[in-house]
Amino acid sequence: MFDFHMHTRVSFDGHDTGLAMAVAAKNAGLQEICFTDHLDYDPLEQMGVMAFDTDVYRAEYDGLSVEGLTIRRGMEFGMTADNREQLLKDLERYPFDFVLGSIHFVDDLDVYFEPFWADKSVFQAERRYLEATLECVKIHDDFDVLAHLTYIAKTHAHPAPRAVPYGEHRELVDEILKELVRKGKGLEMNSSGVDRCGGFLPTADYFLRFRELGGEIVTIGSDAHRCDRVGQYSKDACQILREIFGYVCTFEGRKPVFHKL
Ligand SMILES: [Zn+2]
Ligand SMILES: [Zn+2]
Repeated sequence: MFDFHMHTRVSFDGHDTGLAMAVAAKNAGLQEICFTDHLDYDPLEQMGVMAFDTDVYRAEYDGLSVEGLTIRRGMEFGMTADNREQLLKDLERYPFDFVLGSIHFVDDLDVYFEPFWADKSVFQAERRYLEATLECVKIHDDFDVLAHLTYIAKTHAHPAPRAVPYGEHRELVDEILKELVRKGKGLEMNSSGVDRCGGFLPTADYFLRFRELGGEIVTIGSDAHRCDRVGQYSKDACQILREIFGYVCTFEGRKPVFHKL
C-alpha cells in the first residue's frame, strides 16, 4: 500500500514530525510514502506564509529513514492561473521526487472559507471551482499529478457537504481529464473526502472516465496532516483502482513507477 500525499510540521498546517509520520506509515502497513508539503501562495496575502522553508524541509527529511519503508520527498504546489513562473522557481528548491498540483484559491479566495461561498449555490461553487481547475491545468505544465480534483466538496464553508456529482458537471470534468491525458499528467485518488463529504476526491466514476479517455497515471493520497490519518482508506482506494486500472503509481525522481495491484 502507498500514500503519496501527506503533510508534516514542515507544512504551515501540519503537526507531526517526519519521523513520526513515517513510523505511523510503517505501522499502518504501507510500503512507500511521499511527503508533500505545501507551497501555496495566497494571491491577496491574507493567510500568512503558506509555503515551507527549504532549510526546514531539508532538516526534517534529509537522512530520514525507517526500515522496510520507502520514503519519497515531494511537494504540493497551489496552482493559480498566474503562478506558473513561481512553480518553476520552486522546483529549484530541492530535487523533488513528486509534484502534486492543487487548486486551493479561486478568484483570489481560499475556497475553504466563507467569502468564496458568499454569493454562490453549491452547484455554482462546484462549477466555478472546476472552471478554475480547467484553466490551471491548461496553463501549468510542471506538476506530475492533479491532487484532489473536487476538493471543493470537503471545504469548511460548504453548506451541505456532498461529493461533486460527475453527472452534473460532465462536460467540464471531461475537459479537465482530457487536458491531463493530453499532457501525460496523473489523477490522484484523495481519501480525505471520505469522512468529510462521503466520497473520495474524486469518486470512482471520475477514474473510470479518466481511463476511458486514455489516462494512465493514478496515485493514492490520504492528505494526512496528523499521524493518525496516514494511510487512511488506502486499502479501499487500492481496491477501486485495482478494478479500474489494475495498478497504482508512485513516483521517483519525477517519473511514475507502476505497481500491479
Ligand atoms: Zn490540497
Ligand atoms: Zn495536501
